[in-house]
Amino acid sequence: MPQGALESLFADFDEKPFHARQLMRWVYQRGITDFDDMTDLSKSLRQKLRESTCIQLPEVLSRQNSKDGTVKWLFESGFGQAVEAVFIPEPDRGTLCISSQVGCALDCAFCATGAQGFNRNLSAAEIVGQVWHANQALPRRSNDAADFAVTNVVFMGMGEPLANYRNVVPAIELLISDLAYGISHRRVTVSTSGLVPNIDRLGDECNVSLAVSLHAPNNALRNELVPINKLHPIETLLDACWRYAGKRANRFITFEYVMLRDINDSLEHADQLNRLLTGKPAKVNLIPFNPFEGNDFARPEADTIARFQNRLRENGLVATTRRTRGDDIDAACGQLAGKVSDRVRVRLGAKKLGERKLGVATL
Ligand code: SAH
Ligand code: SF4
Repeated sequence: MPQGALESLFADFDEKPFHARQLMRWVYQRGITDFDDMTDLSKSLRQKLRESTCIQLPEVLSRQNSKDGTVKWLFESGFGQAVEAVFIPEPDRGTLCISSQVGCALDCAFCATGAQGFNRNLSAAEIVGQVWHANQALPRRSNDAADFAVTNVVFMGMGEPLANYRNVVPAIELLISDLAYGISHRRVTVSTSGLVPNIDRLGDECNVSLAVSLHAPNNALRNELVPINKLHPIETLLDACWRYAGKRANRFITFEYVMLRDINDSLEHADQLNRLLTGKPAKVNLIPFNPFEGNDFARPEADTIARFQNRLRENGLVATTRRTRGDDIDAACGQLAGKVSDRVRVRLGAKKLGERKLGVATL
């Protein structure tokens, strides 16, 4: 519950709203989840809290440590399901990559999460619980007790965050609240495959960084790789991106582009990308494809990726290549599979669109 909702809860208890602030500091900043340990709350208030609320954290099923320092946790999400979160340490920051859904319905061709299908949305508690756990499990960055390991959060784990808008927004509110983690909104990044209406809503409601999974510079190819493109084609998506950028001063949109051998990695593709993005508030982040079982995609040679990146730069685009981290424990981009029993697969084939109204409506 973000601060506003907690204050309403205390009002329902006939208690003062400032208790919400006390409770948030206990839970997030001191890691205390037993009401009895919250010594500045009166006994009667603790009793009321115990009777009608609970603080529940996702159970950790496993933790794996990569030789490069990356850490991956598998969290129980009920009924035999599980989601993953990955911590990526760097000298100047600690990034936690979190999941927003159990699986994903959007079925991008090159993604292990998509290959598993979709089971359900995570609650705001399950989303923030991943950050809570990482901050408790990892050492502080300094002797200061408030100097948590997680300095940056990216919604780049399992799931499409903008398809779970209702729960992602309160989770973001907690990440940036000074009473919880106080992470600057610039250090929280939502990555989306392009759910246009919710990009606009996010722009109005949440001032966070936006990354967009573009992956192809024309609609014919993007329809194949990122099927949601059939609903929100590139032009519509880019318009939404520029609207988003326009709402924030000096704000760039990051465009993720997974490099797939002989599919989207030619210089012609780079030139098409330039035509779409040059002169706009855009940065390109190339992601060398990370393999997983059961598909035929391959990662291009390092030379090919470098040539592609240089071609973008020659035309004035800011382009970087994402360093692969944690691939020895299947923690790299696109490798997160968790445990998902597929309940809904939204296949956006031409004829299926109308038939699967329910799935489409929830996007
Ligand atoms: N659903 C959101 C966020 C999760 S995926 C989205 O699609 O943006 C985070 C990033 O990893 C996305 O850009 C995604 O397209 C990319 N990705 C997926 N599978 C990958 C793979 N096998 N190798 C490299 N990147 C991959
Ligand atoms: Fe879902 Fe993102 Fe994977 Fe596409 S890339 S299937 S939107 S998690």
